[in-house]
Amino acid sequence: MTLDAVLFDLDDTLCRYRRTGRELLEAAVERTGLEPFVTLEEYHARYPRFVDDSDSMADLRERCFAAIAADEGRDPADGRRLARAYADERDHGNVEPLPGLDDALAAVEPLPAGVVTNGAPEMQAPKLEALGLDDAFDVVVHAGYDAPSKPDPRPFDVALDALDAGPDRTIHVGNSLSSDVAGARAAGLRSVWIPVDDQAAPDDGRAVPDHTLSSLAELPALVRGDLR
Ligand SMILES: [Mg+2]
Repeated sequence: MTLDAVLFDLDDTLCRYRRTGRELLEAAVERTGLEPFVTLEEYHARYPRFVDDSDSMADLRERCFAAIAADEGRDPADGRRLARAYADERDHGNVEPLPGLDDALAAVEPLPAGVVTNGAPEMQAPKLEALGLDDAFDVVVHAGYDAPSKPDPRPFDVALDALDAGPDRTIHVGNSLSSDVAGARAAGLRSVWIPVDDQAAPDDGRAVPDHTLSSLAELPALVRGDLR
């Protein structure tokens, strides 16, 4: 089968932040002088409940931290203050490329390529710029802004339209089973999953990747097989 195009997720697929969420939270605690009343685990466990009612990541984090503060018997304003300090600590341009990025992009050079990312343009553009990739893609779809968030198939449809590519002749490369693999499948694309850690492939049939790679360094061989 020949490929029409290749799509990529951005965060934890092409790059990752140099500072972890844990480091940001520690810095935010220090900056505010508050006691450390929120853990990263609590934050991650609770934030899905706030997704639908929030209009930005900053808003979501403020609501989530305020709720945790209230549960701890504290003033919810402490939670909001900590959340704002956390956001101030995050520099979206402070990212590093993931192993194999250059080779992967060189391998897909002959093809139209795009990014389908869940994230606001003001968060994602500094990452592409820091990686030197601001002109590397033919289309960048900010799902959640230009279209509904992944795993909705619509952000993939937007990218396919822009690249004039057929879904069954396009692969999407991403690290998340729930947004990348499930979304690509919903849009009729082939999915290439690159887990961040040694995450096991699911066996429940909901978001089963078509290909699983250990890093972007393995993408050239996969794409060459398709281009033969
Ligand atoms: Mg990702």
